[in-house]
Amino acid sequence: MLEAEEAWWKTEGVAISGAIDRGGTPWLRMFDCLGKRVDEILYPREYQTILRRGYRSGVVWRALEEKSLLPAYSLIYNISFHDPGICCPYTVSLGTAVPLAKYGSPELQARFLPQLSRKDDSVWQGATWMTEIKGGSDLGAAVETMAQPAGDAWLLTGDKYFTSNAGAELAVVAARPQGAAAGVRGLALFLVPRFRKNGELNYFIRRLKDKIATRSVPTGEVELRDAEGYLLGSADSGVYLILEVLNLSRVANSVVSVALAQRAMADALSYAEHRAAFGKPILDQPLLRHQFENRLRGLRSAFALAWESVQLLNDVWMERPPYSDRYHLFRLVAHLAKYWTAEFAVDTAKWAMEVHGGLGVLAEFGAERWLREAMILAIWEGTSHRQILDGLEVMERKRANQLLFGRLAEIAPSKQLQDMESQVEQHLKLPPHEREALAEPLFRKLSVFAAEILASKLN
Ligand SMILES: Cc1cc2nc3c(=O)[nH]c(=O)nc-3n(C[C@H](O)[C@H](O)[C@H](O)COP(=O)(O)OP(=O)(O)OC[C@H]3O[C@@H](n4cnc5c(N)ncnc54)[C@H](O)[C@@H]3O)c2cc1C
Repeated sequence: MLEAEEAWWKTEGVAISGAIDRGGTPWLRMFDCLGKRVDEILYPREYQTILRRGYRSGVVWRALEEKSLLPAYSLIYNISFHDPGICCPYTVSLGTAVPLAKYGSPELQARFLPQLSRKDDSVWQGATWMTEIKGGSDLGAAVETMAQPAGDAWLLTGDKYFTSNAGAELAVVAARPQGAAAGVRGLALFLVPRFRKNGELNYFIRRLKDKIATRSVPTGEVELRDAEGYLLGSADSGVYLILEVLNLSRVANSVVSVALAQRAMADALSYAEHRAAFGKPILDQPLLRHQFENRLRGLRSAFALAWESVQLLNDVWMERPPYSDRYHLFRLVAHLAKYWTAEFAVDTAKWAMEVHGGLGVLAEFGAERWLREAMILAIWEGTSHRQILDGLEVMERKRANQLLFGRLAEIAPSKQLQDMESQVEQHLKLPPHEREALAEPLFRKLSVFAAEILASKLN
């Protein structure tokens, strides 16, 4: 499966993907020729060629059929090396299918799961829409979309400000049921189809964002006006479901970040082998060679951390609250991985541009695309700040640091482990304000530490 994908990307995909990126954002056609609202997104035809390939290979159906996330994340890793942006639709489709498979009623599953699991080009896509204009970090305060019960369905009204994969046939949407508590605990998760039962549009796309990264993927603003929605799980457990959706996408983000860094480095390497300065290839200049060697070690570590988060997720993805200790361990590793791999990807993409010198900023050389694409990785699915603070929380409340050190004890030298452990313990004893304000250096250190230990067991 992966070999066939790789061969296709090398012969055809790379050129198509580059052309689509240069072509820019798709268009929104809001009305048909008779003036009827249709909100159709118009893509370059080749976009569908790339997109549908990944679905056919199994970025969604394999997870549902094989009851394992490993094939899906392996595909995402491989595809992202060539086109990191295209993995956004795959991730949000997985983030729609999994909660439906776990928490949807038998009727909902019978109605929608077969379309998301198709292996041909008629497969439906998903989307995950939480963020509103007031902000994505503090969803409890910012989500104003309301849901009113209406028979076996709900009617949702509100506006979603960042909606990747707008136009998807199904979306999972965060909204507050009428009368629910304020804050994040009052949120619930709903399944919202693109079309109502009577065939009319169920959500409206106000506009598409003009953005520097993932240009081929439509990110829109969506209006919900008495949109038909179906509750997933119970109305008071939405916060857990939202977090489970984020678990899937944060882990995917880590895998994409590593693949992007790897790609940026590969391009930098082949450039450095051929570009000469001061009488020899720049790769043979001691300073640059040393940087390559260091960064290669960083890449191995970043991969080890990202893949650990994939494997732990694969152990716990079918758990429901109350969760096991393994789930809390997963949460901490996922925060470390999302934070560190995204930072590594941004830094590596910037460095790879510098290796290309002035040519690096020219669109035709490709290095600038990796930097553009990398910039989003540290922001969506929860910014780096969010990863640090949520990572602290799971250490404070679930003692996930002890679970992590227990896991690393199997491979880490005990002296290093004790040093790191005591630094974390000291930090957790700080007064709350300092604990939060000074968290980044500790989180960075812990991420690198865990990544390097995990990398030492890669063969
Ligand atoms: C291209 C693109 C596609 C997207 N697609 C989707 C999508 O499909 N679905 C979806 O739901 N969302 C989507 N998003 C939204 C994304 O998840 C948010 O942008 C992100 O979560 C941050 O929210 P915000 O932009 O509102 O920033 P804010 O929450 O307003 O934060 C602004 C800054 O303040 C920092 N900050 C906030 N709180 C704290 C704190 N306590 N301590 C320290 N710093 C803090 C943040 O880290 C950030 O740096 C998308 C965004 C982009 C750019």
